[in-house]
Order: sequence, then structure tokens, then C-alpha cells
Amino acid sequence: MSFRIGNGYDVHRFGPGDHLMLGGVRIPFTQGVIAHSDGDVVIHALCDALFGAAALGDIGRHFPDSNPEYRNADSRIFLRRAMAQVTAQGWALVNADITLVAQAPRIAPHLRAMLAALGEDLHAAPDQINVKATTTEGLGFEGRGEGIACHAVVLLRRRPG
Ligand code: MG
Repeated sequence: MSFRIGNGYDVHRFGPGDHLMLGGVRIPFTQGVIAHSDGDVVIHALCDALFGAAALGDIGRHFPDSNPEYRNADSRIFLRRAMAQVTAQGWALVNADITLVAQAPRIAPHLRAMLAALGEDLHAAPDQINVKATTTEGLGFEGRGEGIACHAVVLLRRRPG
């Protein structure tokens, strides 16, 4: 059986606002993020991991900032389209593992909702997706509260037939 692994990483700087979009979930916060789309670092990292595993380039190639269609876009649209492209290439998701890096907000209360949204967009079962979060003990840009980062790893397998 043929397998492919992909890695994704995304960062957004905090800016004016009152909520974050993370994993398709709106989370009230003291700031927002500066972004062309809704700035969902979880979904952006996940899209890059999917594109990476399928050797389809990156999110910037598929959904460029220069396209006005993507201004303030709901990133779940990106995720659904990325999964559709990966599927069209004959790949199926084995699992996705995601690590959010932020000093705040607390992610735990929102994990279930994130997993539900991501599972829906990836057509995946609950045991195929894991989202976790860590602080950086006050170190680096995340620790200083300047922004939020996310790492994602995806494993794909070749669909039979
Ligand atoms: Mg991004």
C-alpha cells in the first residue's frame, strides 16, 4: 500500500478584533488576527499538509491573496476544496495531527467543536483527527502574545482501485 506524509505550518499576527477563527470555530478573544481570509491558522496549516502530502504545492498557490474572492473568506471553503483535490488525485486520509501554539486563548473548551468541523470538512471519523495546543512558556512571538501558530501533519493512503 502506498502512503504519503505532509507537513503544514501557519502563523498569523494578532491585531484588532474580538475573536479568532480556529479549526472552523469562532472563539471570543481580546484580539483578532491580521489576515486576508478569516486567518484560521489551524485550517491553513492543515490545507498545506494535505497539499504537501499529495505533492500539490501549497495554499498560496491554490487560494492566492490576490484573488478578491478570498477576502475575509471562510477558511472551511479552503479545507473542503483541498480535501476534494487530494481525493481527486486518488488519496484518502489516514489521519491528521495538529498542534496549535499560543499563550492564549485556552483551546480545550473548543476542541470538540473544532474536531466536529474538521471531521465534517475532511469526511473523517473522530479517531482520524487530533487537535492539541501548547503554550511556549512565555518564549518567542507566541509567548509574547504577538500571534498564533499551528503545525499540522497529515498521512494519506492510496485508495484501492
Ligand atoms: Mg494563514
